[in-house]
Amino acid sequence: MKFEGRCVMITGATRGIGKATALAFAKEGADLVITYASSEKAAKVVKDECEALGAKVLCLKSDVSKEDDVKALFETAVEEFGKVDVLVNNAGITKDNILLRMKTEEFDDVIETNLKGSFLCMRAASKIMLKKRYGRIVNLSSVVGVRGNAGQLNYSASKAGVIGMTKSLAKELAAKNISVNAVAPGMIETDMTAAMTDSAKEEMKKMIPAKRMGTPEDIAHTILFLAEEGSGYITGQVLCVDGGMAV
Ligand code: NAP
Repeated sequence: MKFEGRCVMITGATRGIGKATALAFAKEGADLVITYASSEKAAKVVKDECEALGAKVLCLKSDVSKEDDVKALFETAVEEFGKVDVLVNNAGITKDNILLRMKTEEFDDVIETNLKGSFLCMRAASKIMLKKRYGRIVNLSSVVGVRGNAGQLNYSASKAGVIGMTKSLAKELAAKNISVNAVAPGMIETDMTAAMTDSAKEEMKKMIPAKRMGTPEDIAHTILFLAEEGSGYITGQVLCVDGGMAV
Protein backbone atom coordinates (compact mmCIF):
# COMPACT_ATOMS: atom_id res chain seq x y z
CA MET A 1 0.00 0.00 0.00
CA LYS A 2 2.34 2.71 -1.27
CA PHE A 3 -0.15 5.57 -0.89
CA GLU A 4 -1.78 4.79 2.45
CA GLY A 5 -2.49 8.08 4.28
CA ARG A 6 -1.87 10.11 1.13
CA CYS A 7 -4.49 12.39 -0.43
CA VAL A 8 -4.37 12.23 -4.23
CA MET A 9 -6.31 14.60 -6.49
CA ILE A 10 -6.93 13.59 -10.11
CA THR A 11 -8.67 16.05 -12.42
CA GLY A 12 -10.89 14.61 -15.15
CA ALA A 13 -11.20 11.10 -13.75
CA THR A 14 -14.43 10.02 -15.45
CA ARG A 15 -12.81 7.81 -18.08
CA GLY A 16 -9.61 6.95 -19.93
CA ILE A 17 -6.31 7.76 -18.25
CA GLY A 18 -7.91 9.61 -15.31
CA LYS A 19 -10.13 6.68 -14.42
CA ALA A 20 -7.32 4.11 -14.71
CA THR A 21 -5.14 6.34 -12.53
CA ALA A 22 -7.84 6.71 -9.86
CA LEU A 23 -8.30 2.94 -9.69
CA ALA A 24 -4.54 2.35 -9.51
CA PHE A 25 -4.17 4.81 -6.60
CA ALA A 26 -7.19 3.28 -4.85
CA LYS A 27 -5.53 -0.15 -5.03
CA GLU A 28 -2.49 1.38 -3.32
CA GLY A 29 -4.48 2.75 -0.38
CA ALA A 30 -4.82 6.45 -1.32
CA ASP A 31 -7.64 8.79 -0.30
CA LEU A 32 -8.94 10.31 -3.51
CA VAL A 33 -10.35 13.56 -4.81
CA ILE A 34 -11.65 12.96 -8.32
CA THR A 35 -13.21 15.59 -10.55
CA TYR A 36 -15.37 15.87 -13.65
CA ALA A 37 -16.58 18.65 -15.93
CA SER A 38 -19.92 17.26 -17.14
CA SER A 39 -19.99 13.43 -16.92
CA GLU A 40 -21.56 13.15 -13.47
CA LYS A 41 -22.83 9.57 -13.88
CA ALA A 42 -19.48 8.26 -15.11
CA ALA A 43 -17.72 10.05 -12.25
CA LYS A 44 -20.04 8.36 -9.72
CA VAL A 45 -19.22 4.95 -11.26
CA VAL A 46 -15.49 5.64 -10.80
CA LYS A 47 -16.18 6.75 -7.20
CA ASP A 48 -18.07 3.51 -6.49
CA GLU A 49 -15.35 1.37 -8.05
CA CYS A 50 -12.64 3.11 -6.02
CA GLU A 51 -14.66 2.82 -2.82
CA ALA A 52 -15.12 -0.90 -3.49
CA LEU A 53 -11.30 -1.09 -3.38
CA GLY A 54 -11.37 0.52 0.09
CA ALA A 55 -10.59 4.14 -0.83
CA LYS A 56 -12.23 7.22 0.71
CA VAL A 57 -13.38 9.26 -2.30
CA LEU A 58 -14.53 12.83 -2.74
CA CYS A 59 -16.09 13.29 -6.19
CA LEU A 60 -16.58 16.90 -7.28
CA LYS A 61 -17.76 18.79 -10.36
CA SER A 62 -15.07 21.31 -11.22
CA ASP A 63 -14.16 22.94 -14.52
CA VAL A 64 -10.35 23.32 -14.39
CA SER A 65 -10.47 26.35 -16.67
CA LYS A 66 -12.55 28.32 -14.13
CA GLU A 67 -10.65 29.97 -11.31
CA ASP A 68 -13.61 29.91 -8.88
CA ASP A 69 -14.24 26.19 -9.50
CA VAL A 70 -10.59 25.36 -8.82
CA LYS A 71 -10.55 27.49 -5.65
CA ALA A 72 -13.66 25.72 -4.33
CA LEU A 73 -12.26 22.32 -5.31
CA PHE A 74 -9.08 22.71 -3.27
CA GLU A 75 -10.93 24.27 -0.32
CA THR A 76 -13.29 21.28 -0.20
CA ALA A 77 -10.41 18.81 -0.53
CA VAL A 78 -8.61 20.40 2.43
CA GLU A 79 -11.82 20.49 4.51
CA GLU A 80 -12.23 16.76 3.89
CA PHE A 81 -8.67 15.43 4.01
CA GLY A 82 -6.62 18.29 5.51
CA LYS A 83 -4.09 18.25 2.65
CA VAL A 84 -3.36 17.34 -0.96
CA ASP A 85 -0.18 15.24 -1.26
CA VAL A 86 -0.41 14.41 -4.94
CA LEU A 87 -1.93 16.36 -7.82
CA VAL A 88 -2.44 14.69 -11.19
CA ASN A 89 -3.32 17.34 -13.79
CA ASN A 90 -5.10 15.01 -16.17
CA ALA A 91 -8.15 16.93 -17.45
CA GLY A 92 -7.68 17.73 -21.11
CA ILE A 93 -9.45 18.23 -24.43
CA THR A 94 -8.70 18.34 -28.14
CA LYS A 95 -10.31 20.53 -30.80
CA ASP A 96 -8.35 19.59 -33.89
CA ASN A 97 -8.14 21.53 -37.13
CA ILE A 98 -5.52 22.66 -39.60
CA LEU A 99 -4.34 26.20 -38.92
CA LEU A 100 -6.22 27.89 -41.76
CA ARG A 101 -9.53 26.42 -40.57
CA MET A 102 -8.90 26.74 -36.85
CA LYS A 103 -11.39 29.01 -35.15
CA THR A 104 -10.13 31.34 -32.42
CA GLU A 105 -12.52 29.63 -29.97
CA GLU A 106 -10.96 26.23 -30.78
CA PHE A 107 -7.55 27.63 -29.93
CA ASP A 108 -8.77 29.41 -26.78
CA ASP A 109 -10.79 26.46 -25.42
CA VAL A 110 -7.87 24.04 -25.63
CA ILE A 111 -5.43 26.50 -24.07
CA GLU A 112 -7.91 27.40 -21.31
CA THR A 113 -8.51 23.77 -20.29
CA ASN A 114 -5.12 22.14 -20.87
CA LEU A 115 -2.71 24.96 -20.05
CA LYS A 116 -4.55 27.44 -17.84
CA GLY A 117 -6.35 24.59 -16.05
CA SER A 118 -3.01 22.97 -15.15
CA PHE A 119 -1.67 26.37 -14.03
CA LEU A 120 -4.67 27.05 -11.76
CA CYS A 121 -4.49 23.60 -10.16
CA MET A 122 -0.70 23.74 -9.68
CA ARG A 123 -0.98 27.14 -8.02
CA ALA A 124 -3.72 26.00 -5.65
CA ALA A 125 -1.93 22.71 -4.87
CA SER A 126 1.45 24.38 -4.30
CA LYS A 127 0.03 26.59 -1.52
CA ILE A 128 -1.21 23.51 0.34
CA MET A 129 1.91 21.41 -0.34
CA LEU A 130 4.28 24.18 0.79
CA LYS A 131 2.59 24.25 4.21
CA LYS A 132 3.15 20.49 4.55
CA ARG A 133 6.61 20.61 2.97
CA TYR A 134 5.60 17.66 0.82
CA GLY A 135 4.11 17.25 -2.62
CA ARG A 136 4.15 15.37 -5.90
CA ILE A 137 2.70 17.03 -9.01
CA VAL A 138 2.30 15.02 -12.20
CA ASN A 139 1.15 16.87 -15.32
CA LEU A 140 -0.22 15.22 -18.44
CA SER A 141 1.60 16.50 -21.50
CA SER A 142 1.69 14.56 -24.78
CA VAL A 143 4.02 13.29 -27.47
CA VAL A 144 2.31 16.03 -29.52
CA GLY A 145 3.71 18.63 -27.11
CA VAL A 146 7.20 17.18 -27.68
CA ARG A 147 7.10 16.63 -31.46
CA GLY A 148 4.14 18.65 -32.79
CA ASN A 149 1.43 17.22 -35.03
CA ALA A 150 -0.29 18.54 -38.15
CA GLY A 151 -3.87 19.48 -37.34
CA GLN A 152 -3.23 19.87 -33.61
CA LEU A 153 -1.53 23.26 -33.35
CA ASN A 154 -3.65 24.34 -30.38
CA TYR A 155 -3.25 21.04 -28.54
CA SER A 156 0.49 20.95 -29.27
CA ALA A 157 0.91 24.50 -27.93
CA SER A 158 -0.99 23.61 -24.75
CA LYS A 159 1.00 20.45 -24.12
CA ALA A 160 4.38 22.08 -24.92
CA GLY A 161 3.32 24.82 -22.50
CA VAL A 162 2.66 22.19 -19.84
CA ILE A 163 6.25 21.01 -20.26
CA GLY A 164 7.54 24.57 -19.82
CA MET A 165 5.44 25.06 -16.69
CA THR A 166 6.57 21.69 -15.31
CA LYS A 167 10.26 22.56 -15.65
CA SER A 168 9.81 26.06 -14.24
CA LEU A 169 7.76 25.03 -11.22
CA ALA A 170 10.12 22.10 -10.55
CA LYS A 171 12.91 24.66 -10.10
CA GLU A 172 10.74 26.82 -7.82
CA LEU A 173 9.75 23.94 -5.54
CA ALA A 174 12.64 21.47 -5.61
CA ALA A 175 14.09 22.65 -2.30
CA LYS A 176 10.70 22.26 -0.57
CA ASN A 177 10.35 18.50 -1.07
CA ILE A 178 7.83 19.02 -3.86
CA SER A 179 8.50 17.40 -7.22
CA VAL A 180 6.90 18.43 -10.50
CA ASN A 181 7.08 16.12 -13.50
CA ALA A 182 5.24 15.52 -16.75
CA VAL A 183 4.16 12.35 -18.47
CA ALA A 184 3.97 12.55 -22.25
CA PRO A 185 1.73 9.74 -23.50
CA GLY A 186 1.82 8.64 -27.12
CA MET A 187 -1.29 7.14 -28.72
CA ILE A 188 -3.46 5.76 -25.95
CA GLU A 189 -6.74 3.88 -26.37
CA THR A 190 -9.30 6.24 -24.81
CA ASP A 191 -12.32 8.27 -25.94
CA MET A 192 -9.87 10.98 -27.03
CA THR A 193 -8.44 8.75 -29.76
CA ALA A 194 -11.66 6.79 -30.43
CA ALA A 195 -12.75 9.31 -33.05
CA MET A 196 -9.86 8.31 -35.33
CA THR A 197 -10.74 6.06 -38.26
CA ASP A 198 -9.40 2.50 -38.24
CA SER A 199 -7.15 3.32 -41.20
CA ALA A 200 -5.73 6.38 -39.40
CA LYS A 201 -5.05 4.18 -36.36
CA GLU A 202 -3.30 1.59 -38.53
CA GLU A 203 -1.15 4.33 -40.11
CA MET A 204 -0.32 5.64 -36.66
CA LYS A 205 0.64 2.18 -35.37
CA LYS A 206 3.24 1.95 -38.15
CA MET A 207 4.96 4.96 -36.55
CA ILE A 208 5.05 3.33 -33.09
CA PRO A 209 8.11 1.12 -32.57
CA ALA A 210 6.07 -1.01 -30.10
CA LYS A 211 3.49 -1.53 -32.91
CA ARG A 212 0.54 -1.05 -30.60
CA MET A 213 -1.39 1.76 -28.99
CA GLY A 214 -0.87 2.23 -25.28
CA THR A 215 -3.46 1.50 -22.61
CA PRO A 216 -4.66 3.90 -19.88
CA GLU A 217 -3.03 1.49 -17.42
CA ASP A 218 0.38 2.01 -19.11
CA ILE A 219 0.06 5.71 -18.24
CA ALA A 220 -1.39 5.18 -14.77
CA HIS A 221 1.60 2.97 -13.91
CA THR A 222 4.02 5.79 -14.79
CA ILE A 223 1.99 8.42 -12.93
CA LEU A 224 2.07 6.31 -9.76
CA PHE A 225 5.82 5.84 -10.11
CA LEU A 226 6.41 9.61 -10.29
CA ALA A 227 3.98 10.21 -7.40
CA GLU A 228 5.72 7.80 -5.02
CA GLU A 229 7.50 9.22 -2.00
CA GLY A 230 10.71 7.51 -3.13
CA SER A 231 10.65 9.25 -6.52
CA GLY A 232 11.09 12.70 -4.94
CA TYR A 233 14.59 13.28 -6.34
CA ILE A 234 13.14 13.09 -9.88
CA THR A 235 11.87 16.55 -10.79
CA GLY A 236 11.38 18.70 -13.88
CA GLN A 237 11.37 15.62 -16.10
CA VAL A 238 9.21 14.68 -19.07
CA LEU A 239 8.69 10.95 -19.25
CA CYS A 240 7.51 9.80 -22.68
CA VAL A 241 5.28 6.74 -22.42
CA ASP A 242 4.68 6.07 -26.07
CA GLY A 243 6.09 2.71 -27.20
CA GLY A 244 9.14 4.54 -28.54
CA MET A 245 7.27 7.08 -30.71
CA ALA A 246 9.22 10.16 -29.61
CA VAL A 247 12.67 8.55 -29.91
P1 NAP B 1 -10.57 11.59 -22.19
O1 NAP B 1 -10.87 10.14 -22.21
O2 NAP B 1 -11.10 12.45 -23.28
O3 NAP B 1 -11.03 12.19 -20.75
C1 NAP B 1 -10.83 13.53 -20.48
C2 NAP B 1 -11.20 13.82 -19.06
O4 NAP B 1 -10.99 15.24 -18.83
C3 NAP B 1 -12.66 13.55 -18.73
O5 NAP B 1 -12.75 13.02 -17.43
C4 NAP B 1 -13.29 14.94 -18.77
O6 NAP B 1 -14.41 15.06 -17.88
C5 NAP B 1 -12.16 15.78 -18.26
N1 NAP B 1 -12.29 17.20 -18.64
C6 NAP B 1 -12.36 17.74 -19.87
N2 NAP B 1 -12.47 19.07 -19.80
C7 NAP B 1 -12.45 19.39 -18.49
C8 NAP B 1 -12.52 20.60 -17.75
N3 NAP B 1 -12.63 21.80 -18.37
N4 NAP B 1 -12.48 20.54 -16.41
C9 NAP B 1 -12.37 19.35 -15.77
N5 NAP B 1 -12.30 18.18 -16.40
C10 NAP B 1 -12.35 18.19 -17.75
O7 NAP B 1 -8.98 11.87 -22.17
P2 NAP B 1 -7.75 10.85 -22.03
O8 NAP B 1 -7.46 10.30 -23.36
O9 NAP B 1 -7.96 9.93 -20.88
O10 NAP B 1 -6.59 11.89 -21.71
C11 NAP B 1 -6.26 12.31 -20.40
C12 NAP B 1 -5.09 13.27 -20.47
O11 NAP B 1 -4.00 12.67 -21.17
C13 NAP B 1 -5.41 14.57 -21.25
O12 NAP B 1 -4.75 15.66 -20.65
C14 NAP B 1 -4.83 14.29 -22.62
O13 NAP B 1 -4.52 15.47 -23.31
C15 NAP B 1 -3.62 13.47 -22.27
N6 NAP B 1 -3.15 12.62 -23.38
C16 NAP B 1 -3.96 11.67 -23.92
C17 NAP B 1 -3.48 10.91 -24.99
C18 NAP B 1 -4.31 9.84 -25.65
O14 NAP B 1 -3.84 9.26 -26.67
N7 NAP B 1 -5.49 9.50 -25.16
C19 NAP B 1 -2.21 11.14 -25.50
C20 NAP B 1 -1.42 12.12 -24.93
C21 NAP B 1 -1.91 12.87 -23.86
P3 NAP B 1 -15.93 14.97 -18.45
O15 NAP B 1 -16.10 13.55 -18.87
O16 NAP B 1 -16.77 15.36 -17.28
O17 NAP B 1 -15.99 15.93 -19.59
